[in-house]
Amino acid sequence: MFLLLPFDPVGLARTLGGHGRAGEPVLERGSQLGVATQADDERDVVELDVEALPKLREPAEKRELLRLVPAVAGGAPRGDDEPGRLEVAEHPRRPAGLRGSLADGVGGHFPTNLTTVMSRCPAYALGVRVHIISDMEGVSGIVRGRQTLGGAPMYDEGRELYTEEINAAVRGAKAAGATEIVVMDCHGAGGEWSFNSLVPDLLHPDCEFVVQEDWTEYTAFLEEGCDAALLVGMHAMAGAGRGGMNHTVSGQDYYNLRFNGTLVGETGIHAALCGTWECPVLLVTGDDVACEEGKTLVGGGLTTVAVKKGLGATSARQIPPVRARELIEAGARTALSDLKAVDPWSPGSPCEITVEFKHTLAVDKLRFRPGVERVDDRTISVTAETWWEAWKTFYF
Ligand SMILES: [Zn+2]
Repeated sequence: MFLLLPFDPVGLARTLGGHGRAGEPVLERGSQLGVATQADDERDVVELDVEALPKLREPAEKRELLRLVPAVAGGAPRGDDEPGRLEVAEHPRRPAGLRGSLADGVGGHFPTNLTTVMSRCPAYALGVRVHIISDMEGVSGIVRGRQTLGGAPMYDEGRELYTEEINAAVRGAKAAGATEIVVMDCHGAGGEWSFNSLVPDLLHPDCEFVVQEDWTEYTAFLEEGCDAALLVGMHAMAGAGRGGMNHTVSGQDYYNLRFNGTLVGETGIHAALCGTWECPVLLVTGDDVACEEGKTLVGGGLTTVAVKKGLGATSARQIPPVRARELIEAGARTALSDLKAVDPWSPGSPCEITVEFKHTLAVDKLRFRPGVERVDDRTISVTAETWWEAWKTFYF
């Protein structure tokens, strides 16, 4: 016997007050539920083997699910001869303008789990949670350090350019069906402007934004379960010759940063942070050098939007902001059309982080920190079971 559900596990999950990823609050992750899809232009239905219902976590959720199916679908079982079937003429939560069928995403009729079905089907990316992680140096119109320095005369213009690129990514994410978008500014502008460079009044109303005290300290959204990260406004790693304002973490302090031997910049840090909670990086925007760095690190499935061509540390050939934003909006939409295009990135386990500083002072400051090994006068190394454990040991 089959029960036909409207394909809206997130709607159900949210109604049930869950906090996890699509389908997780009511369904055990990885459960083989015998889901089969049937969809055409008019009907959106999912067949769920009722024998899977015992795999729901709590009896109360089971009852709720059965009760909520008709409520969420906005329809009723059709045909007395098919008491276990529910067909939905129109998906009540489907965003306007999104077309496509489940079959587009899953290619027909086969058992899988709801999270997988959902992640493969952009038209049904109704519950996609998107983290926009951003920096300022890779924004179109920004080429000089003082445009990114809190309090400097050109900073106000810079932060407006920055905020509008974020808005473009939010629009693209929304168009791809994202339902929860959290923006996290990672630009250290100095003083009270650090990680606080977005202009709140200009921000798209459909996102939320985090201001953090220390870079990489806000992980709650990732921990709750985040489907994709979009890196906007990225710059290339320290030492990348053509990369505009190229640096890693601190232009004054860091010479080279390696995770298990791989030379990384800030894209690598974000990719490892997101990967800690199984969240893939699907988009990198910035200059062409930053984009190339992203692809080299996480793979060719990454969508990139180069808003300028790096000519040197303080020079670039740029696409004007108005057009750059259009490209970013389209890029975000494309990136989120396939949540499996890039695997979550990990440098591996155990993980050794090596920092080669430009000077000896930073090493001196860390020399008594438990877990930190002083490799030489300018270099430290930390090894832990995971990247996150190693990072926390020395960074904060
Ligand atoms: Zn920055």
